[in-house]
Amino acid sequence: MIIQRVVLNSRPGKNGVPVAENFRLEQSTIADTIQAGQVRVRTLYLSVDPYMRCRMNEDTGSDYLLPWQLSEVADGGGIGVVEESKHGNLAKGDFVTSFSWPWQTVAILDGSLLQKLVPQLVNGRLSYFLGAAGITGLTALLGIKEKGHVTGGANQTMVVSGAAGACGSLAGQIGRLEGCSRVVGIAGTDEKCSILVQEMGFDAAINYKKGNVAEQLRELCPGGVDVYFDNVGGDISDTVISQMNQNSHIILCGQISQYNRDVPYPPPLPPDIEKIQKERNITRERFLVLNYMDKQEASILQLCQWIQEGKLKVRETVVEGLANIGAAFQSMMNGGNIGKQIVSISK
Ligand code: NAP
Repeated sequence: MIIQRVVLNSRPGKNGVPVAENFRLEQSTIADTIQAGQVRVRTLYLSVDPYMRCRMNEDTGSDYLLPWQLSEVADGGGIGVVEESKHGNLAKGDFVTSFSWPWQTVAILDGSLLQKLVPQLVNGRLSYFLGAAGITGLTALLGIKEKGHVTGGANQTMVVSGAAGACGSLAGQIGRLEGCSRVVGIAGTDEKCSILVQEMGFDAAINYKKGNVAEQLRELCPGGVDVYFDNVGGDISDTVISQMNQNSHIILCGQISQYNRDVPYPPPLPPDIEKIQKERNITRERFLVLNYMDKQEASILQLCQWIQEGKLKVRETVVEGLANIGAAFQSMMNGGNIGKQIVSISK
């Protein structure tokens, strides 16, 4: 059977900026028949995520991430529909997902590595299982629960960087649901800031590309910062950390501003900021959602319930067509997305 797939065409280099041309669409073939235990799936949605930048390097710098190989198919979170099954638990028409879905239109996969999806849990919005009701939602929820020390009634102020992105937009809302009394976001455009405040219930948002972030933060967080959900690292984080309170907490979710640089993860703080962190006893522990998969099922149900109740507002930026996945990745890394970046593959 003839299929379309996307392979890694070239590496941007550890200190390079990734571009759409680092990926290549090509035609390929898969077997016409499947073996016992296998399913043939048609791809519906693919997830595009910042961690993929590390997979474009020869050495990802992490023991849990494998590099993509040149001229081989890329993979990541995906959702599809079963077209043929020789696996006992899966039938034609089932919707399934995997963290390592190949970037191709149709694939033959091992049925035991797929999770069956229940579309009703997300009001039929299947792609949410890649975002708000998937690994992104889990990252926001478990990051806050495991590292945020949020306590209802404690009058805590949370700041979120990368706030209009997939994790950030959920993190601010979950921070509020878990009990923070004030939530302030930092994002890269006025449009993003206005969505955060008007749609997602943030108290305020700062466009870090305009004006003085430190001054605006001081104004918007007069009692200092108690919880910082950090998606970006770099200058923005240094500015936030400078305004954090004694015994406050950083949720070290990601450091996207450093992903095109050959630095260790997590990148060390500049000496003056590290001094503040130590003197004020601010926690900054590594957080990796994959270490909490024992809490996956209950957490996904919690996220689905909030979505159904309208307590968690979800935004997606959907790009159509496998051919555009490289461009979608490039755009997301440059701030082109609001909420979760998804690529939709129609027949
Ligand atoms: P995302 O935030 O939806 O997309 C990336 C966003 O980052 C862009 O839209 C852009 O928005 C912002 N950005 C890009 N370059 C920036 C820079 N130099 N400085 C400041 N902001 C920049 O992606 P996501 O999937 O939600 O991921 C957010 C973070 O969480 C990433 O660091 C990712 O690696 C991390 N993550 C961690 C885990 C974990 O287990 N710890 C799991 C999933 C994701 P602006 O317009 O605001 O610049």
